[in-house]
Amino acid sequence: MFYQVSKEDEYLFRGKRKRLVEQLRTKGICNKAVLDAIEKIPRHLFFDQTTGRPALLDHAYSDKALPIGAGQTISHPFTVAFQTEKLELLRGQKVLEIGTGCGYQTAVLVEMGAKVFSIERQKTLYDKTKLFLPFIGYKSVRLFYGDGYKGLSQHAPFDKIIVTAGAPYIPNDLLIQLKVGGIIIIPIGEGEEQEMNILKKVSTQEFEKQIIGKFKFVPMLQNKTK
Ligand code: SAH
Repeated sequence: MFYQVSKEDEYLFRGKRKRLVEQLRTKGICNKAVLDAIEKIPRHLFFDQTTGRPALLDHAYSDKALPIGAGQTISHPFTVAFQTEKLELLRGQKVLEIGTGCGYQTAVLVEMGAKVFSIERQKTLYDKTKLFLPFIGYKSVRLFYGDGYKGLSQHAPFDKIIVTAGAPYIPNDLLIQLKVGGIIIIPIGEGEEQEMNILKKVSTQEFEKQIIGKFKFVPMLQNKTK
């Protein structure tokens, strides 16, 4: 069902991942656990099988956003690394991810020892990623088909929350479901670009907010698809 890589390909891809990690380092990513995860995860296996595979395989380790089907994209490696680094993740922490997509960001969180709960609103992507992640060895993740605006109250509170789609505002349910002391990272903006918002919950009602950099995400949409 999934693309099989030969031994030589494996070797080639490992080299490409090493170079990608070097690029991320020069762009300012310094968290070792984040870089180790990116060096380990076979990003080339995460693309949609129907979207011109050979061309995409060549680009799998360039710092680009690429299609994953259902009109969605896998985030740039730099964006994944940046958001993950800002979560200040510790092993064993509970993380809620909004926007599972192809599961690449999910895999990075799992590699870093997080207990990951991830929500996707597109049924086709959810179905595909639910099969794919265990297939390549990520069996512990909990994937949900639903609307990320609502979070997952039945599994709250979370140590960290990461939103991987551009939101018009910060959903209140997500702020409620974050532990005191926890961090949420969410790109905010309705146009082409969003500003990365990093909020630390300092008490049940108070947050410290930082805005760092502009990024391009697909929009965070209301409700789930059929
Ligand atoms: N983290 C993903 C990025 C995927 S792009 C990866 O590594 O591949 C963003 C994803 O967010 C898309 O799959 C999109 O369908 C999803 N999304 C958008 N709005 C959402 C919502 N309200 N709830 C859950 N997922 C949402």
